[in-house]
Amino acid sequence: MYTTAFVDLPPLRRAAGTVRLPGSKSISNRVLLLAALSEGRTVVRDLLDSDDTRVMLQALQTLGCQLQRLDATTVAVDGLGGRLPVPQASLFLGNAGTAMRPLTAALAVLCARHGGTFELSGVPRMHERPIGDLVEALRQLGARIDYLGQAGYPPLRVQGPAALQLQAPIRVRGDVSSQFLTALLLALPLAAQTQPITIEVAGELISKPYVDLTLKLLARFGVDVQRSGWQRFTIPSGARYRTPAEVHVEGDASSASYFIAAGALAASEQPVTIEGVGLDSIQGDIAFVEAARAMGAHIDGAANRLHVRRGAWPLRALDLDCNAIPDAAMTLAVLALYADGPTTLRGIGSWRVKETDRITAMATELRKFGAEVEAGADWLRVHPLPAAQWRAAAIHTYDDHRMAMCASLAAFNPARLPVRILDPKCVAKTFPDYFETLWQVVQADPADIPVLCIDGPSASGKGTLAAAVAQRLGYHVLDSGALYRLVGLAAARAGLPTDEAALADAAVVAQLAELARTLAARFEGGHIWLDGCDVTEALRSEQAGAAASRVSALAPVRQALLQWQRSWRRLPGLVADGRDMGTVVFPDATLKVFLTASAHARAQRRYEQLRARNEHVSIDDLLADIEARDTRDRARSVAPLQPAEDALLLDNTHQTLDESVETVLAWWAQRRPFGA
Ligand code: C5P
Repeated sequence: MYTTAFVDLPPLRRAAGTVRLPGSKSISNRVLLLAALSEGRTVVRDLLDSDDTRVMLQALQTLGCQLQRLDATTVAVDGLGGRLPVPQASLFLGNAGTAMRPLTAALAVLCARHGGTFELSGVPRMHERPIGDLVEALRQLGARIDYLGQAGYPPLRVQGPAALQLQAPIRVRGDVSSQFLTALLLALPLAAQTQPITIEVAGELISKPYVDLTLKLLARFGVDVQRSGWQRFTIPSGARYRTPAEVHVEGDASSASYFIAAGALAASEQPVTIEGVGLDSIQGDIAFVEAARAMGAHIDGAANRLHVRRGAWPLRALDLDCNAIPDAAMTLAVLALYADGPTTLRGIGSWRVKETDRITAMATELRKFGAEVEAGADWLRVHPLPAAQWRAAAIHTYDDHRMAMCASLAAFNPARLPVRILDPKCVAKTFPDYFETLWQVVQADPADIPVLCIDGPSASGKGTLAAAVAQRLGYHVLDSGALYRLVGLAAARAGLPTDEAALADAAVVAQLAELARTLAARFEGGHIWLDGCDVTEALRSEQAGAAASRVSALAPVRQALLQWQRSWRRLPGLVADGRDMGTVVFPDATLKVFLTASAHARAQRRYEQLRARNEHVSIDDLLADIEARDTRDRARSVAPLQPAEDALLLDNTHQTLDESVETVLAWWAQRRPFGA
């Protein structure tokens, strides 16, 4: 997951390959609650692991539900069977509407029957998202609910016991959020022991497929609700939740929309294949497939899988009522930039009460790309954006996962401009690894992938600085010294000599070059593996450094490592450290820094490093060694230590690491097209 302040997407050219989607948020949270309300154990497989499901799991646990994580995506839930073992608790529900609304209703009913006091709260945005219509419906029933802040909004207190009035139909508004109806449908079977309960919807019900999803999942848990039209729903007398023992959560159809869009924009020969959701999905957002087809995408569906290719180009403009696909409709707003005329999305009034006011947010951010956007109370019109009018933009995401994921699709822009997405960690709400998943199926031209090089002499702190800068940018890091150290180590292990005398022999040099070309090394999670052994520590020794210094003076070895080093240039970008990164390996790098420090300062730093590792060397010896190395490295004929002509010099003798990082990031910002 990206926890950086921003992530920069290079311009993307192509899309192809296979993605496996995380589980559906809507199904995950409904199933968790249903499992918790049922009697017996439910094993939930392919569960989404994200912020919204985490708050639901936490809440259920607080309520006394036994949960057992069987693996990363499987949880066993031992249901409460309609009981309430914990009489009092405070539940923090983040920004998860799918937890706040149904839990309020379920607790209102359970408290009425068994007694109890529960407080439900969330993040500040959750306290701006309406819940009054649901509270009104529950109060009509006789439930005791108080607002702890502003009337009509969380936080809330739910109390009991209370006598529930179940004879008359319960009325609830359906035109603000369908989650109010869903919440009642999930909660009221707990009160229908001896009589049927009827719910009547006032106003036109929005987002009907989400209610349909609720009904299908209720049926899986043994409760068949009868409905007439979308106005009247009846829970049969004697309803009781029964666990189906095991539930598989489908991949998230809303999350699929970003990859369907990527395929429609940039998959030519090979399709983008999306696993985990198919055309027979029970999720309403699967209807996004129809909308994408109408815009020109080629989509073939199989069971639990979709294949997407680019069809019509430019895409065809749409005028569409999106009431049934409010979430996936956001993806259409970005696709509209690539269409042959203005696209109008209607029936999206609910966008205003989601994670943010999505109509305003989408209009504001698309305009930053240069687009002409018109917005109304419940509609949005996006005009196509010709190549010449695209601008590089830093996109605000408003703590809204969909804003971030949508914005990523602008990286396919024909002007080949990068896109900056601020606060990318907001995707954790439903898709923590969204960007990593995206990198798997999109490609940029290597020349468009930014590289920041940090060259410099031994012990200048290049590696530490490179790692720190890479972390701030969310980029990969190439420690090229480690590659030379690996060659030295591999040579020692293969019994190949690397002393000066041996290196005079052309045959030995050729063998070393071959060794470098075929090195079986792996870099993973801060560790380096050679032939299956963790050599991270071994590589750091002075001995390995000395061997590296000798083999790195050999032109054939350097040549052998060149392609490998260049293959590190991967999405979204690279920070490369080593003496010739900016001169030989990445001469077209976006920014080249030549890092240096006085020989004394470097000797002192190395001394402290070695002391921390319990290696005792005299500081005078280190200084002499560093001075000798500098002289040798500057003078050597192969890859001499020299700043690239266009490198910026950074002397960090008197700087802390943080100061150096800030200096480099400020230079970086100047080289990027996003402004300060
Ligand atoms: O940076 P580090 O100490 O790990 O590098 C080990 C040795 O590899 C250095 O002494 C240097 O001579 C050599 N090297 C190189 N070119 C690079 C990186 C390291 O010649 N790009």
